[in-house]
Amino acid sequence: MNYYDDNFGHYNIESEEDVEFYHSMQRQSVSKRCKGCGRMVRIKRDYAYCNSCADARENGFDF
Ligand SMILES: [Zn+2]
Repeated sequence: MNYYDDNFGHYNIESEEDVEFYHSMQRQSVSKRCKGCGRMVRIKRDYAYCNSCADARENGFDF
């Protein structure tokens, strides 16, 4: 199964244990506006950027 999460992006989950992890991650996440792209995303409370912005930042882009 293919899942999407704004913390980590797309990922493939095979085992039930990992689906559990996915759901607990979703529960810990809140809707907020990404500081990078300004989209409403569902990310962890202590995250400021969605997955694609976090990737961009890792590649040296600055907002
Ligand atoms: Zn973003």
